[in-house]
Amino acid sequence: CGIVGMIGNTGAKEVLLKGLEKLEYRGYDSAGLALMHENVNVHKEVGRIAALREIIPAELDGTIGIGHTRWATHGVPSVPNAHPHQSTTGRFTLVHNGVIENDELIKKTLDVPFLSETDTEVIVQLMEKHFVELGDVEAAFRKTLSDLHGSYAIAMIDSEDKERLYIGKNKSPLLVGLGDGTFNVVASDAMAMLQVTDQYLELHDGEIVILTRESATIKTLDGEVLERAPYTAEIDA
Ligand code: GLU
Repeated sequence: CGIVGMIGNTGAKEVLLKGLEKLEYRGYDSAGLALMHENVNVHKEVGRIAALREIIPAELDGTIGIGHTRWATHGVPSVPNAHPHQSTTGRFTLVHNGVIENDELIKKTLDVPFLSETDTEVIVQLMEKHFVELGDVEAAFRKTLSDLHGSYAIAMIDSEDKERLYIGKNKSPLLVGLGDGTFNVVASDAMAMLQVTDQYLELHDGEIVILTRESATIKTLDGEVLERAPYTAEIDA
């Protein structure tokens, strides 16, 4: 299972699909992609990345996107359970690797219809609830992750904001890949993104990243900004 994400200017689809292919070795049962240009388009399929490629319209692309390979823990391998998952209004779109242990407890506090059996859909619906309460996406994202018990690597798109990707990590692998100043990426494994960069920022448990085209701001769940130098990945692509 794995995650890829990109915020750039064009061509996110091919970068993300290639990235997912590089993560195939990790094992998975289904895969999906969300691409945003004007709107957010979500495509998911059971089986190989090649099958996902086939259902994505050739003319569709995006400047921002997130992709996922799933290893089912909550609910069978199926298209509804495949990621990305969206909040009921469609405002937030999210991919997740890992296992949330208090998902059933959180679900009882959410008065919305659920379309999947996953712990992940609980995260994105909680995100929307906190956003309605707090009125601030980053604050809601930090509060949402603070409420979770378990492991997660998360990448999230806000359909109302074409300038930011939201990243979070706890006990599941996730790295930020730094681009040339016009794009940035995120992936579970540097191997997925060596096609576009060899500069990476390591992330620690309990950290979030606000990713723009030009910057990567690492913060704690309390909102404190952390400084970190990138390293050069020396693996053959
Ligand atoms: N627990 C999530 C699910 O079952 C994510 C699984 C994964 O890591 O791919 O959908």
